[in-house]
Amino acid sequence: MPTVREIEQRLFDIAPKALAFPWDNVGQLLGDPEQEVERVLVALDITEAVADEAIAAGCQLIVAHHPVMNCKWLPVQSVRNDTPQGHLLLKLLRNGVSAICMHTNLDAAEGGVNDCLAEALELIDPGPLDWGEERLCRVGTLKKPMELADFAKFVCRKLGSNGVRFAGKGGLVHRVAVGGGSCIESQDAAIAVGCDTFVTSDIKYHDFLDAEGKGINLIDAGHFPTEDLITYKLTLYLQARFPGLNVKKSASHKEVIQYYVEGEM
Ligand SMILES: [Zn+2]
Repeated sequence: MPTVREIEQRLFDIAPKALAFPWDNVGQLLGDPEQEVERVLVALDITEAVADEAIAAGCQLIVAHHPVMNCKWLPVQSVRNDTPQGHLLLKLLRNGVSAICMHTNLDAAEGGVNDCLAEALELIDPGPLDWGEERLCRVGTLKKPMELADFAKFVCRKLGSNGVRFAGKGGLVHRVAVGGGSCIESQDAAIAVGCDTFVTSDIKYHDFLDAEGKGINLIDAGHFPTEDLITYKLTLYLQARFPGLNVKKSASHKEVIQYYVEGEM
């Protein structure tokens, strides 16, 4: 059986550590690198439910996209059972579950999060949005231009979102930038390379308000729907790379945000 360290190395083959942002902690974040692994659970996030699922299934390892602790937004100051983060970390450690988190390195990697998103939205010739500091997003064109509202519906259905929010200059959508998760800071780069539409998530009111004046359409398709595609791919990759390993995508982890739409209920 492979060790956690060996699985980490094979994951770095497809998402090299050097691609991670300087503030990001990627790779094995929890557990013993020499632990032998028989069963792996793959999920976008390591939540309490995902931890419970992994323990119930007898997994020794969870492979996730978002870091279970991160110096930027989830620093570990203490590991106490009476805090949500401490409770989760203690549960994983007590049950011998290691964690490997492939975050911004997997966003940027060829075939990673943003290539999956471009593929799901059927972009032709997707390539990196290479402008200034921007390194993560992808740009491509639609085979056939569509009206903004039609494209919003297309995005919603392709990604299995509960709903999408959109605003902007309107008109036909043709050249599209995509950034899974919170990539709104890349919108100026998307505009600079001639995109008419940008699909990402976690977009704020003022960004929507300013979109028309900037000459772009913004579509917020949700953080989970724009990124969870990668977990299918990671599952298949690990199954192919380690034929004896039992690798499953989490069944419990789903989009948490629900939408009430006036007139539809
Ligand atoms: Zn994310």
